Amino acid sequence: MSSLQKKTDVILIGAGVMSATLGSLLKELAPQWEIKVFEKLANAGEESSNEWNNAGTGHAALCELNYTAEKSDGSIDISKAININEQFQLSKQFWSYLVDSNLIRNPQDFIMPIPHMSLVQGESNVTFLKKRFKALSKNPLFQGMEFSDDPEKLKEWIPLIMEGRTSNEPIAATKIDSGTDVNFGALTRMLFDHLKSNNVEINYEHSVKDIKRTSDGSWEVKVLDNVSGKIENHIAKFVFIGGGGGSLPLLQKTGIPESKHIGGFPVSGLFMVCNNPEVVAQHHAKVYGKARVGAPPMSVPHLDTRYIDNKKALLFGPFAGFSPKFLKTGSNLDLIGSVKPNNVLTMLAAGAKEMALTKYLIQQVMLSNEKRMEELREFIPNAKSEDWDIVTAGQRVQVIKDTEAGGKGTLQFGTEVVSAADGSVAALLGASPGASTAVHVMLEVLEKCFPQHMKEWEPKILEMIPSYGVSLVENPEFFQDIHASTAETLGLSAKELAYS
Ligand SMILES: Cc1cc2nc3c(=O)[nH]c(=O)nc-3n(C[C@H](O)[C@H](O)[C@H](O)COP(=O)(O)OP(=O)(O)OC[C@H]3O[C@@H](n4cnc5c(N)ncnc54)[C@H](O)[C@@H]3O)c2cc1C
Repeated sequence: MSSLQKKTDVILIGAGVMSATLGSLLKELAPQWEIKVFEKLANAGEESSNEWNNAGTGHAALCELNYTAEKSDGSIDISKAININEQFQLSKQFWSYLVDSNLIRNPQDFIMPIPHMSLVQGESNVTFLKKRFKALSKNPLFQGMEFSDDPEKLKEWIPLIMEGRTSNEPIAATKIDSGTDVNFGALTRMLFDHLKSNNVEINYEHSVKDIKRTSDGSWEVKVLDNVSGKIENHIAKFVFIGGGGGSLPLLQKTGIPESKHIGGFPVSGLFMVCNNPEVVAQHHAKVYGKARVGAPPMSVPHLDTRYIDNKKALLFGPFAGFSPKFLKTGSNLDLIGSVKPNNVLTMLAAGAKEMALTKYLIQQVMLSNEKRMEELREFIPNAKSEDWDIVTAGQRVQVIKDTEAGGKGTLQFGTEVVSAADGSVAALLGASPGASTAVHVMLEVLEKCFPQHMKEWEPKILEMIPSYGVSLVENPEFFQDIHASTAETLGLSAKELAYS
C-alpha cells in the first residue's frame, strides 16, 4: 500500500446524477477549475440513478397525489405541486442548454413524452381528484390537464386498466400529455461522458474512505483504489458528497457541526416488470394511484410506461421494504454503523415514533408474489402472473432529524443539502422528489457554497437556465415560451417517437 497526495479544486464523490449535474454546472461556470470524481463502482449511474433502480418519472406534480394535500377546510393546497413543477422546469432548461450547445446529444435517449395520469376509486377519492383537478387546471403550469369519471372515456385513455374491471365503485382519472419519462441512468452516463471529454478526471473503482479537514481549511479525502489496493490522499478546496445512500456516513466523517444529530432510515424497493410485449403495447402512460392509509409517500403504486434500453417497457410498483443497506451494493452493517453518540437519541426517538412505518415495511417485505399480483390486479384486473417478473430497485435513505414541528427523531421524505458554514463541503441527503430536481438542488449547493461567485456567475446561469430566480407561475407568458422551447429542443412535442 502506498500513499500519494494530490491537490485539486473540486472533488465530487459518487458518479450519480447529482455529481453529474453539479460537475456539468461547474464546468460551464468555472471552466478553469480542476475537478476530480471518485466512484466506487465500475461505471457511472449504477446506484439509484440507474434506470432499473428508480421509476424514471420526471416529477412535475402532474400525477403525484401526495404533492396536493387536502386542507382541513376541504380545499386543496397546491403550493408544493407548484414548487416541484417549477423545479422540474429548471432541469428541462439546463438539459436543453446542454443539447443546444452540443455538449450532449440525442435527448430522446434520456427523455420521452408520456402522459401523466392520476387514478382513484371510491366516492371520496373521486371528490378529492375532482377538487384537485379544479385547483390545478386553472394554473398555467398545469394547463392541458383533463378529468374524466366516464368509464367509456377512461377505456380510451387506459384500456389495459379498464378491461375486465367489474367493480361498480366510482372511478376517475386526470390526464396531462406534457408528462415525461426520464432515463436518469442514460442522462448520468451522458453527462459523465461530456465531463470526461472536458478534462474532468473520473476515477471508477475508487472508494472514498475518509474525509478530514487540513490546517488551511481544505479537505483531505482518503481514497482506496479497489483494483490495486493503493490508498491515495487527495486535497481539495471544495468537496461534494454525492454518494446517494452512502452520503450520510461520509458526511459524518467530516465531523462538521451540521453533520450531527442526523440519522438515516433505509427503505428498499421492488418493481414488477412485464415480460409480455403484447401487454406492454396496450398501455401508454404513467398512472399514479393513491398511497394506502399508513403507507409512506414513496410507496404510492404506479403503472408506468418506460423507455429503457431503447424499447418500451411496463413497470409496476414500487413495493417498499426494509434492508439495513444504505446502497443497493452496500453492507448489512450500514445502518448500525451510522448510529453515533451524537445521533443515537434522534434515531431511538424515530424508532419509537415510526412503529407504524416499520410495521408497514415488514409487511411489504413478507408479501408473496401472489399478494403482489393482487395489488397489480387493482390496476390491471386481467394481469397474469407469468407475464410479470420482479426487479430490485434502488435504496432510499430517508433523513431522520430533530425538527421544531415534528420534535426529536422526525422522518423526512424530501432531499436536504447539508453544508459546512464556510461552504467548503456539502452533502446531499434524502431521495425525493429526487433526480428530477437535480438542477434545482445543485443550484442550491452553488448558492450555499459559493456565495462569493454567484454575482459573477449569474449571467451564465441565466443563459443556461433563463427562469433562474423567476417565478414561472407568476409569469405565465414566460412559462409558455420556456415550455415551448424546451419541448422543441428535447423532442417532447412529438407524441409517439421512435420506440413505440
Ligand atoms: C425506488 C426508487 C424510485 C425512484 N423514482 C424516482 C423517480 O421516478 N423520479 C425521480 O426523479 N427520482 C426518483 N428516485 C430518486 C432518484 O433515483 C435519486 O434521487 C437520485 O438517483 C439520486 O442521485 P445521487 O447521485 O444522489 O445518488 P446515486 O445515483 O445513488 O449515486 C451515488 C453514487 O455514489 C457512489 N458512492 C457511494 N458511496 C461512495 C464512496 N464512499 N466512495 C465512492 N463512491 C461512492 C455510489 O456507488 C453511487 O454510484 C427514485 C429512487 C428510488 C430508490
